[in-house]
Amino acid sequence: MPHAYPFLTPEQKKELSDIAHRIVAPGKGILAADESTGSVAKRFQSINAENTEENRRLYRQLLFTADDRVKPCIGGVIFFHETLYQKTDDGKLFPQLIKERGMVVGIKVDKGVVPLAGTNGETTTQGLDGLYERCAQYKKDGADFAKWRCVLKITPTTPSHLAIIENANVLARYASICQMHGIVPIVEPEILPDGDHDLKRCQYVTEKVLAAVYKALSDHHVYLEGTLLKPNMVTAGHSHAHKNTPQEIAMATVTALRRTVPPAVPGVTFLSGGQSEEEATINLNAINQCPLHKPWALTFSYGRALQASALKAWGGKKENGKACQEEYVKRALNNSQAAVGKYVSKGDKGAAAGESLFVANHAY
Ligand code: 13P
Repeated sequence: MPHAYPFLTPEQKKELSDIAHRIVAPGKGILAADESTGSVAKRFQSINAENTEENRRLYRQLLFTADDRVKPCIGGVIFFHETLYQKTDDGKLFPQLIKERGMVVGIKVDKGVVPLAGTNGETTTQGLDGLYERCAQYKKDGADFAKWRCVLKITPTTPSHLAIIENANVLARYASICQMHGIVPIVEPEILPDGDHDLKRCQYVTEKVLAAVYKALSDHHVYLEGTLLKPNMVTAGHSHAHKNTPQEIAMATVTALRRTVPPAVPGVTFLSGGQSEEEATINLNAINQCPLHKPWALTFSYGRALQASALKAWGGKKENGKACQEEYVKRALNNSQAAVGKYVSKGDKGAAAGESLFVANHAY
């Protein structure tokens, strides 16, 4: 093993690192709007809206055209395949609109989870076949970053060694393919919040999973400066009896990251994972206030925690467009402050701010 054969030129490395840094510039995070058509069906069902292509376009158009207050808050937007080719009412492609607003366009490239044989209900994520070609096309069509979600579960018998190494390896393989095409990979090994385990167990599992992910990224020669990590926060299981403080969650989360995530990684963009909107903001704020040294940007890449109130306010009705956008702007502003540790909670009660967004065994 004398050396690695360089696969990225200095210019390609600079492009990747510049993209990653733009997404997580101070006060900025990511709007995850990449729900698959099936996930949108569940969200729309909750507001009695029909899951048609036109309704998905109308709803996402509201998010993408929210007023300029979101500009300093949102560094990137993750699209689902369909959205990349949809247009505004006046005929502008969504990627073009997002770029003109100074945000980076991202695309979900995984194809969902499938069972891992011989395990206790564990999964791997598929989508590597043809990914090389798809990434080349997505780059041409305006995407500068991508997302791939792997899922791990905490039970008395999981995650298994097989699930940890298989998911780490598939994430690394995806990341290297993205980088060959000038696309920054967001590496997402989500440990689900389902279970009755305590905070310590989640921290232990998070450390083991992240350590395996960074070993695999190194094995695959992934250029860390041109990547982002999208992990779960370290929390006790959803059905654990004791509720930890945001400070305890922050300390466990930052400790786990410091033990496993190299400082070369520009940013960590947490998923909200079923926390309520307000909880996700308060915990992100506590993470940024944690007194340990933190060499990366620590920010948000929220789906449910940016959209729950907005979706509710919209309710599938045209006349509620403005109210929907107001709720989204409010969450974006709050999370932007939390991303720099300056959020002061006003006990916010948006349309869904305090509501648990937990979905058992969540698929995206
Ligand atoms: P949540 O913030 O709703 O957990 O989703 C973020 C995401 O993109 C998960 O892959």
